[in-house]
Amino acid sequence: MQTYPAVTLKPGKERSIHLKHPWIFSGAIQSVEENIREGDLSEVYSSIGKYLGTGHYHEGSIKVRLITFNRCNIDESFWYQAIQDALTVRKKTGLVDCPNTNVYRLIHGEGDNLPGLIADIYSDCAVIQTHSMGMLRSAEEIGAGLREVYGNRLHSIYLKGADTVSDHDSVLNPERFLLGNKTETEVTENNITFYVNFPEGQKTGFFIDQRENRKLLGFFAKGKKVLNTFSYSGGFSMYALQGGASEVHSVDSSARAENWCMKNAVLNHFNDRHGFFRSDAFDYLKKVNETYDIVVLDPPAFAKHLSAVKNALTGYRNLNTEGIKKVRKGGLVFTFSCSQAIDKELFRKVVFQAAAQTNRKVRILYQLSQGPDHPVNIFHPEGEYLKGLVLMAD
Ligand code: SAH
Repeated sequence: MQTYPAVTLKPGKERSIHLKHPWIFSGAIQSVEENIREGDLSEVYSSIGKYLGTGHYHEGSIKVRLITFNRCNIDESFWYQAIQDALTVRKKTGLVDCPNTNVYRLIHGEGDNLPGLIADIYSDCAVIQTHSMGMLRSAEEIGAGLREVYGNRLHSIYLKGADTVSDHDSVLNPERFLLGNKTETEVTENNITFYVNFPEGQKTGFFIDQRENRKLLGFFAKGKKVLNTFSYSGGFSMYALQGGASEVHSVDSSARAENWCMKNAVLNHFNDRHGFFRSDAFDYLKKVNETYDIVVLDPPAFAKHLSAVKNALTGYRNLNTEGIKKVRKGGLVFTFSCSQAIDKELFRKVVFQAAAQTNRKVRILYQLSQGPDHPVNIFHPEGEYLKGLVLMAD
């Protein structure tokens, strides 16, 4: 059995690991073996020398992110098995070899016991996003595992690590192909076609986490006039159009989002009922004189860190106030937050405050989250990052 440099905890600090929480904070650590480097694999021990788990070591407040609680070699066969396990879960949710959907998240960090690793499947392409130096250094082996599990069903594997691993060692070359050479593709989600660009797109190229919520919007859309703010490539817009919306307006400030949203409307033959407005969403909501049957508010994370929560709450409050004002009597607002630092209760409270400012009667019809291919490790509640409410405003 291979050994890795040891990290030893202070007395009593092993409790969270017994509860299978994968993070070890700096305050829990008694000692670290000399010469350990950022991103190295390390073994964690209790103060009395009991093995607790193996994970990647990092500088910063989270010192170790555990990837196993059982002593084993972290080699190609480890990654192969981890990918197989993740695929088994996706198969159970019906997302693999599904006739109307060929895009899904295969590995969702802590939700798959692999902190720092994201892998998304886009038809015959996989995109790996590494959120830690340790995962970036393991990228070759992860790529080999993917090739072995998927065989000739995969044409390309794109590693996308430049945006998400800071201070990286340039020899690691965080943006490259581990197989093939496709930078873009078209995927099908619930029979809707979407163009996805891996290097230029946000995240791995597409917001896969909103699939179930977009589907719900489609269900309500028949004959409705819909406003989709922060539209990106038009995820919610295309579902509304497929659901029979009479008219859909997409709003986003980015030129790429405009390009891709228009492209998707054409690919699905929806362009005659679709209009795109390149604008700041707050400005659009303030200036527009029209009202809508359904308004979607899906902004980027306003609070990326705890320190940004206060300003973020003001942003969410203002956005929701303006969004609710733009909806017709009896209409719906699909409102979301993907800020990890703002939990479900806090988001609901801020939407409550926004509703109070509009003087309208507002009810919650649905409480939404991310899809089942973005599982939440129950011992790591921080993984439940996407929160959504469907409001009805009278
Ligand atoms: N709902 C989308 C994902 C939204 S991502 C989907 O289902 O695919 C957030 C989007 O907000 C990005 O496309 C980004 O360009 C856009 N954005 C960020 N700040 C903005 C602003 N102030 N006004 C309008 N769009 C903005």
